[in-house]
Order: sequence, then structure tokens, then C-alpha cells
Amino acid sequence: MKPALPIEVDPASGVWSTDGLPMIYLPRHFFVNNHVEIEKALGRAAYAQSLYAGGYRSAHFWCAQEAATHGLSGLAVAEHYLQRLSQRGWGRFSFIAADVHSGAAQIALTHSVFVLAQGIAGVPVRSDKLCYLFAGWFAGAMDWVGEDLGERWRTFSRETQCEAEGHAHCVFTVSALGAR
Ligand SMILES: [Zn+2]
Repeated sequence: MKPALPIEVDPASGVWSTDGLPMIYLPRHFFVNNHVEIEKALGRAAYAQSLYAGGYRSAHFWCAQEAATHGLSGLAVAEHYLQRLSQRGWGRFSFIAADVHSGAAQIALTHSVFVLAQGIAGVPVRSDKLCYLFAGWFAGAMDWVGEDLGERWRTFSRETQCEAEGHAHCVFTVSALGAR
């Protein structure tokens, strides 16, 4: 099957884009190998914290851009976000639950790149929660949803189970931190 999302390539610059947002297309083993090396260099706790902050801001920005592009609002934007991530090959993401009164949510992930890339091109095989790079994305998306709905919640997100630990799928739990 062909990609399920629109991809444009600028003939002059070669820049790829989807919905007007520039994208980078790269080999999965390259991305995951880099991820593993940075984790090794920085230590997982510090690296995860940096990824969380960058991922949170990026997801929040993405939601604002895509809401304007497609005329979407509220939780539909976060659902569109999970669909787009799934169409871009990061894995298959879907909401198990989402509470539009608090921002609390649970997201299931199958076929995560971090699980699938294990054992390829020197990527280590580990029984651990491997997909923490995604964690900040869902807090960023749910906080954007809250702002769009006129709510004042803030959330925190983390991977609470991983397929690499032997579970059927990964789960991200977005917890409500309460009002700002
Ligand atoms: Zn996982």
C-alpha cells in the first residue's frame, strides 16, 4: 500500500512536507541507533527528560498547526495526531480512553519502532520500557486539547507498559495534574 497521508516534495529544495509541515524521511535503524547512543552518553533519566520537553512542545505546535489546516478542534485533533503518527511509521497508536474533563488518557501502541528495530544494525535487545521518546508527545497533545476546549488542565504522560517487556502492546498513561 502507498502512504496514507499526503507527501509533497519541493522540486527546488528537495524538502518533504505533509499538510505544509516539513518532514524528514530517514531509515529506522539509523534513528533508533542514534537514540540508543544518545541514551548511553547522557544516561536514560537525563535523556528522557530532554526528549519529554522537546516532544511536548513539538506535539503542542503540531496540534495548533493541524487544527488550523483541517478545521479540527478539541479531542479530534489528538485523534488526528495519533492517526498521523500511525501513518508515518512510528507504530500504531490509538486511544484506549480519553477524558475531556481532566485531560487524563490512555494510549495503546503496537508495532513501535523501538520494539521492531531491536536486534537490527546493532540495536540492542532489551526487556524494558523502550518507547519513552513518545511520552511527552501525548501530554503536549492533551494539554493543547484542553486549551482549545477552554479547560485549564495540565497533564503528565509516561509509558506504563511496553511490548518489549512481554506485553501485547505498549501503553502510555496521561495523568491529570490539575488546573494551572
Ligand atoms: Zn513500548
